[in-house]
Amino acid sequence: MFEMFAAWGQGCAACAHPIETSRPGLEGRLCLQCRQGLPVALERMARRPEFVDEAWTLGPYSGLLGGLVRPAKYGEREWLLAALGVELAERAARSPLGRVNAIACVPSTPLRRMSRGFDAVALLARALPGVLDAPIVPVLVRRDGARQAGRTHAERRANVHGVFQARRRVSGAWLLVDDVLTTGTTASACALALREAGAASIEVLVVAGG
Ligand SMILES: [Zn+2]
Repeated sequence: MFEMFAAWGQGCAACAHPIETSRPGLEGRLCLQCRQGLPVALERMARRPEFVDEAWTLGPYSGLLGGLVRPAKYGEREWLLAALGVELAERAARSPLGRVNAIACVPSTPLRRMSRGFDAVALLARALPGVLDAPIVPVLVRRDGARQAGRTHAERRANVHGVFQARRRVSGAWLLVDDVLTTGTTASACALALREAGAASIEVLVVAGG
């Protein structure tokens, strides 16, 4: 196994040290020290985005998970996103997450999806239906694209509330999944769109947040 990783030129996904492990999933991509830094349970985030009932994260944005999800997102490493998705699902299965009826992913822009060849958040969410017994429903759409270009950061933040909308009426309890949660602006915009469409409650789940 070590030789296989060495042949790929891949060390630990977090710190690049050589890996000597045959463990499956994310643990198999981390050195012993980084593996020990993996959280055992989801954290309830102290700061909830607006329109969201509860927000959960696998770990803090400034820690190991933030360090993993950033290169996974921008470095087009599909395997790492899929492995992080398995971690997310394992922790979600054992967490005090409320019962959800459906799962929505924060949609990425078509342009970004095209340039990467995959949808990062969809990869992260892929293992959740199996443990939460709820389907992923592609109900949210993003209307932005070029319209956001040229705006200042403050203008974009003010504008983000109109960026997402639901394709149809919904009901019940929803889980909204994203890769990271920092300002919470995107999550609250998506939550507002779901609420306006009829969602009764919304919990947010991210890989790295806070
Ligand atoms: Zn490491």
